[in-house]
Amino acid sequence: MARVALVTGGTRGIGAAIAIALKNAGYKVAANYAGNDEAAGKFKDETGIPVYKWSVADYDACAAGIAQVEADLGPVDVLVNNAGITRDAMFHKMTRDQWHDVMGTNLNGVFNMTHPLWTGMRDRKFGRVITISSINGQKGQMGQANYSAAKAGDIGFTKALAQEGARAGITVNVICPGYIATDMVMAVPEKVRESIIAQIPVGRLGEPEDIARCVVFLASDEASFITGATLTANGGQYLT
Ligand code: NDP
Repeated sequence: MARVALVTGGTRGIGAAIAIALKNAGYKVAANYAGNDEAAGKFKDETGIPVYKWSVADYDACAAGIAQVEADLGPVDVLVNNAGITRDAMFHKMTRDQWHDVMGTNLNGVFNMTHPLWTGMRDRKFGRVITISSINGQKGQMGQANYSAAKAGDIGFTKALAQEGARAGITVNVICPGYIATDMVMAVPEKVRESIIAQIPVGRLGEPEDIARCVVFLASDEASFITGATLTANGGQYLT
């Protein structure tokens, strides 16, 4: 029987590519999103993948949303924590809202989504938890103290939880993309984007599909010996 995969922030950018790749690999896929109904509707029409609206920053909404997905598709086998936001500012100008918004989605959101699913994965002796962190969680980035802290937290979360899940057949891994051509990156001024590309040895931004392929691999049975790993996909920009 087809496994069920739930992708947060799965209607745009990297998440959309992940949802489509998992569908093409034979999974029953659900894509969550936060508020952009137009993009979600277009994605649903084009892919046939059902979409579900709630904020990963809200624990109760996650629990209710997951219950709805499981009622519709069956128990979730693969969770992809992809939803993420930026609220960039130099630290001396960073507001408490900018800090808490990024923590709420990019770090608390990972807890809020994984926690309600964890017991079921343990009981069924199978699970895949794959979180999308960032190169900037590995190296830090000026103007992103909030984002870098949250994304580094995702890596620590993964390493700890991998040890708890191993005996229960659950692998927990994190992917650190470099700069990928999505709305998030295309929103930065062109000059800044050109300076970013100049720092990438392969000479281009990544494509969402570059990350989606990593997810499909980590979700597969072939990757069952890989857990607690940080998979870097950044065109050689930062070598750990
Ligand atoms: P996009 O901005 O293109 O898409 C973000 C997606 O996340 C949207 O579907 C959005 O929903 C959803 N989302 C945002 N906040 C929430 C929330 N609170 N609850 C549920 N869904 C939410 O982002 P990218 O595709 O660029 O990024 C995806 C992930 O990859 C993020 O975690 C990001 O930090 C990470 N990343 C991205 C890089 C890049 O270069 N693009 C580089 C490294 C990491 P809606 O459409 O409703 O707004």
